[in-house]
Amino acid sequence: SRQVYTFGGGAKHDDPRARDKIITGGKGANLAEMAGIGLPVPPGFTITTEQCVQYLAEGGDFSDELRADVAEALTHIEKTVGKSFGDAADPLLVSVRSGARVSMPGMMDTVLNLGLNDETVEGLARTSGDDRFAWDSYRRFIQMYSDVVLGVEHHLFEEALEIAKEDSGYLNDVEMTADDWRKIVKQYKDIVASELDHPFPQDVNEQLWGAIRAVFDSWDSERAKVYRRLNDIPGGWGTAVNVQAMVFGNMGDTSATGVAFTRDPATGEKAYYGEYLVNAQGEDVVAGIRTPQYLTKAAREKAGAKPLSMEEAMPKAYAELAAVFELLEKHYRDMQDIEFTVQQGKLWMLQTRSGKRTAKAALKMAVDMVGEGLIDEATAIKRVDPMALDQLLHPTLDPKAPRDILGRGLPASPGAASGQIVLDADTAEKRAEMGEAVILVRVETSPEDIHGMHAAKGILTARGGMTSHAAVVARGMGRPCVSGASGLSIDMKTRTLKMGGRELKEGDILTLDGASGDIMAGEVPTIEPELAGDFATLMEWADKHRRMKVRTNAETPADCKMARQFGAEGIGLCRTEHMFFDASRISAVRQMILAEDEAGRRGALEKLLPEQRADFHEIFDIMRGLPVTIRLLDPPLHEFVPHEDAEFAELSDEIGIGVDTLKRRASELHEFNPMLGHRGCRLGVTFPEIYEMQARAIFEAACDVAAEHGEAIVPEIMIPLVATAKELEILKALVAKVATQVFEEKGATLEYMVGTMIELPRAALMAGEIAEAGEFFSFGTNDLTQTTLGLSRDDAGKFLPTYVQKGIFARDPFVSLDIEGVGQLVELAAERGRKTRPDIKLGICGEHGGDPASIAFCEKTGLDYVSASPYRVPIARLAAAQAAL
Ligand code: ADP
Ligand code: MG
Ligand code: MG
Repeated sequence: SRQVYTFGGGAKHDDPRARDKIITGGKGANLAEMAGIGLPVPPGFTITTEQCVQYLAEGGDFSDELRADVAEALTHIEKTVGKSFGDAADPLLVSVRSGARVSMPGMMDTVLNLGLNDETVEGLARTSGDDRFAWDSYRRFIQMYSDVVLGVEHHLFEEALEIAKEDSGYLNDVEMTADDWRKIVKQYKDIVASELDHPFPQDVNEQLWGAIRAVFDSWDSERAKVYRRLNDIPGGWGTAVNVQAMVFGNMGDTSATGVAFTRDPATGEKAYYGEYLVNAQGEDVVAGIRTPQYLTKAAREKAGAKPLSMEEAMPKAYAELAAVFELLEKHYRDMQDIEFTVQQGKLWMLQTRSGKRTAKAALKMAVDMVGEGLIDEATAIKRVDPMALDQLLHPTLDPKAPRDILGRGLPASPGAASGQIVLDADTAEKRAEMGEAVILVRVETSPEDIHGMHAAKGILTARGGMTSHAAVVARGMGRPCVSGASGLSIDMKTRTLKMGGRELKEGDILTLDGASGDIMAGEVPTIEPELAGDFATLMEWADKHRRMKVRTNAETPADCKMARQFGAEGIGLCRTEHMFFDASRISAVRQMILAEDEAGRRGALEKLLPEQRADFHEIFDIMRGLPVTIRLLDPPLHEFVPHEDAEFAELSDEIGIGVDTLKRRASELHEFNPMLGHRGCRLGVTFPEIYEMQARAIFEAACDVAAEHGEAIVPEIMIPLVATAKELEILKALVAKVATQVFEEKGATLEYMVGTMIELPRAALMAGEIAEAGEFFSFGTNDLTQTTLGLSRDDAGKFLPTYVQKGIFARDPFVSLDIEGVGQLVELAAERGRKTRPDIKLGICGEHGGDPASIAFCEKTGLDYVSASPYRVPIARLAAAQAAL
């Protein structure tokens, strides 16, 4: 099949491969698509991603066949434009652009103005009638090509330019004359020659193939690899290469270049949004070299900015652009992120793609577009990344709290963050690894800063607009970002920064408000998020389309309340051990554990009973009308044992047992491998009085709440770490005995269920037998992962990252369920459990219950519910709906 596809200039697009992102990459496919619907796209061609993969695998030279196809495609451009590549009289110039299947902003390299050399630059000057433009283009080309293709460091060129400007007393590139640029070109060529021992290539075909090779090679560059790792992009996709006729935004004041979004990517508002620069080339906007101007009059006025918006300065081109926005949104049915250039009043489209957006914007756009009839509810549900909701669920700055404002920048990515100032990406990463919250502060960011941006809670830059690298990447990562804070100056030598007449040093605390652009000294308190409006609407749709229920893992009243607000439909896991750590009762717990005999234990349990009953009373009350699964005590007892001498002494005073005796008991409880030791139902089997007390507390509380509200409470009692049916039988009988006693005492009765965690491979295998007694299964996938992989979660941190890096695990199996392995046990247990007990209730309560990929698996397996931590509940609701659609 074809490896080179032309677009624009009336090229036919019959071959669907031409518009398939997998084949021609996102940029190429959309250029073909735009040209196909009649938009003004400079003609060009795309070399497929398949060629890239082949080239990277085989190395060496390009085939004759490819060279012939490229030559033919180049002819297509030449014919359309009416210029010839390398023609000294009237040269065709091209850009060589990368373009992977998904956009990787700033990750791959682009070369503009290719085809210029010492002869063609004269031709360009003559035909354009603009010497300055021609030489400006040539110096841009030498610099970019040398950087991207030849590997000459760009700062060498920048320094030469700085010195030249200083010598002439210029502040700005705009002041450079044709002669100045001519001199710069000579200097640039000297730099290349001295750095490389060979001159800058004058042969335009050598230039072209060098650039093509560089784009392919850039797929395997370090920064591209980092980006792929952070974004789960497979290394095997490869990038396409797009070669496209140049259009010039730097041909005087009727020319411009810009980037735009059809809606506001930060808020989702239906308003054109973007920036443009007069007399400039594309890279200038993105690189943040000059501060760009607003696209619309409204945006300019709102910001109180002076330089005219595009709407005011170039009304005709702007009107054309606005029409294109409308057309593109209708065509793609999504918000588009666009690059355009105006060459002497004529508009050209250079790129479109579905725009990256904040969670807030994604929500608003999805809901709005349903209202506009552009998409249906199911599409809206699929449009929002469940994990991105996380941004909305977390607190924002309290508007009433005092703010010590240092200055303001552009509100480039919303959300609030406080943390220590760090001035470079490596430091950010190091400090974040030590558990510190950091704010990365840079003059501007580049792709080399990605790891630091990822590690930071927020990002602040002195330069760059709303579409600068920092802004785009921060929005993609969900990090708050304030960009273009022009009042900020950074001194890397003293590692300090100045702003608003104040000096701060690295390590000082800074707060950013990405929604307003405010930069504040110190930490500012936050408030809870707004869960009404678009959020509620989308959640309602999600609830309508999902099959599985979503419960929460919670045991404190505060967590239970929050989870209910977030839409939890019950508690899937209430861990009772957390209740034992409370300061007021830990001594009774310790007394129970360190007691020498049953009588001693029972004495202590007496004291704990009313406390536990109060715990459950509160939880049943908060969760009224919803199911509550309570897990009986699970961890090894020694977790509660004192460690310090002072603690032993205090306990000894309190319970009247000698310190030595206590210490001896404590050391008897020591275990070599507590994770596989005396814990879970093994405690219940050996010390039945503990589970008896807990069961009693549950039933008494349930009876009380039921009586108070005249409402049925159906407790679900869960026995942990069961390996055999016998364990469950014994403990179920114990629970039943307590139930009978309590019901007799209270003169009331309740429905209740007894079930088990499935968290040992044996339990999964024996699920058929276990289901005889077990009325429900809850897959405890944290332990099931540990025990199936023989991998301790608490110790895996040392080697798991390497395992993920080497691709042994695609993802951390404690974050995203190992579907291939552990998933088999879940499927098998579900199947065997159902065979014994067709109406058995099945759920998952491991960390995975809040992970979208794992949730999709649960849907496929037909589980009844997932249970997630409170903040993950909305994520799970949306993910469950996406899984069901
Ligand atoms: P990226 O993927 O990093 O955005 P692009 O390939 O889109 O890289 O190009 C970088 C910049 O160069 C963009 O602003 C784009 O508009 C501009 N550009 C690319 N090709 C051309 C062209 N043929 N004519 C004019 N400008 C171009
Ligand atoms: Mg681009
Ligand atoms: Mg467990």
